[in-house]
Amino acid sequence: MKTGVCPKCPSRDIHRVPQTAVEVSIAISWSKTANLDYYVCTACGYVELYVEDMALLPSIAEKYPKVN
Ligand SMILES: [Zn+2]
Repeated sequence: MKTGVCPKCPSRDIHRVPQTAVEVSIAISWSKTANLDYYVCTACGYVELYVEDMALLPSIAEKYPKVN
């Protein structure tokens, strides 16, 4: 999706929606959350989420268990 192509259909109608206060985020600590960017395919409706600030990824990796 970040490349502008939908993985579910051949569309290139991908739009980025930055996080607003009412949307979901990932808690890192009581005072810190990772905002999420939404990539929406406006042809089929598929949505992908990405952590907005890549610098927070190590904190998420430390707090949450890895999928095995
Ligand atoms: Zn699509």
